Amino acid sequence: MLLSRSLPSSNAGHLIPISTSSSPRARPTTVRPRHHIPGGAMTIRAGRDAAHVLKVEPQPLKQVLDLEPQPVKQLIDRRPTTKLKIAVIGFGNFGQFLARTFAAQGHELLAYSRTDYSATARSLGVAFFDDHHDLCEQHPDVVLLATSILSAEKVLRSIPIQRLRRSTLFVDVLSVKEFPKNLFLQLLPPDFDILCTHPMFGPESGKHGWAGLPFVYDKVRIGESEERAERCRAFLEIFEREGCRMVEMSCAEHDETAAEIQFLTHTIGRVLAKLDLKSTSINTKGYETLLNLVQNTCSDSYELYNGLFIYNKNSTELLEKLDVAFDSMKKELFQRLHGIFREQLFDGSGKSFK
Ligand code: NAP
Repeated sequence: MLLSRSLPSSNAGHLIPISTSSSPRARPTTVRPRHHIPGGAMTIRAGRDAAHVLKVEPQPLKQVLDLEPQPVKQLIDRRPTTKLKIAVIGFGNFGQFLARTFAAQGHELLAYSRTDYSATARSLGVAFFDDHHDLCEQHPDVVLLATSILSAEKVLRSIPIQRLRRSTLFVDVLSVKEFPKNLFLQLLPPDFDILCTHPMFGPESGKHGWAGLPFVYDKVRIGESEERAERCRAFLEIFEREGCRMVEMSCAEHDETAAEIQFLTHTIGRVLAKLDLKSTSINTKGYETLLNLVQNTCSDSYELYNGLFIYNKNSTELLEKLDVAFDSMKKELFQRLHGIFREQLFDGSGKSFK
């Protein structure tokens, strides 16, 4: 059962699922945790599941003192210090994946997309807008661009930015970084803050949580006021709280590195997919890794892969290097094979067999 399920929606966002068995009783539970909570004791108006989780069976004193108040600590860790109103533009696969966690942390989520995702949005606690004018009039603190790389410019140009507050933080999560950075600098008014990010994981690799997964960011333009700095910090904190490995890196450096690790991985995955590999009864660990690679890379849209190629200038060079490496490997193999044939044909003495 899930603790968060039994909470009223205003609180549900602060909780992470905690397994428990069922309990017959449902009543508000007061917890006095060992960790400091501003305001002292915390009352959780939880249903039957939560009451059961927090119930402590009578135990010897030492054991009680040693008890780690883990569930309470988790409750504290997921509560944002600053609640943000975040508008996701491009509510597809990745936009939804991010919004789920943002909402679960207690932030207010709005979304706009060319497709009608209102039912999905409702299930995630996100307010869906089919008109981006209406969305902008909600004055979000953060506008998060999560469209495909290929459509980013068109989508950004279509946002009625005049309806936003003069101080708005624009963030992107595109898998290439120099391109959106230049777009933002070119198309957004100088009053808007800009944070370019790349969560280097997706719905497949991050489906069991984000702990330890890399999150790259570049504070391209963050105003000096305390309020602007705090807004940016609060946004980054979302990923910190999930345990991401935070890496501050320039957009240029990201693209150079990402061509190798990201475009290469996706290319190999997609080349292998063309072989239509099948799982067998004698799979080795290495082969399983290849099957997983195909699954991981091909579950992303082709448009995403295409964007990695077109909008990262380092990808062309990488593809050429890959070509050369493959040819050289083939040459090496065939040279050895020819060597063996030659040995057999000429008996190592230069005389051929009759
Ligand atoms: P995607 O195919 O790259 O993008 C899908 C999104 O783009 C949808 O929201 C879609 O809107 C929108 N879109 C596509 N063409 C459009 C157009 N012509 N006009 C308006 N909107 C358009 O797949 P994704 O996985 O969701 O990725 C979204 C972004 O996140 C990409 O920039 C990607 O590089 C980045 N990212 C993805 C991952 C990942 O693992 N998937 C990881 C890190 C970063 P509709 O659905 O409304 O049509």
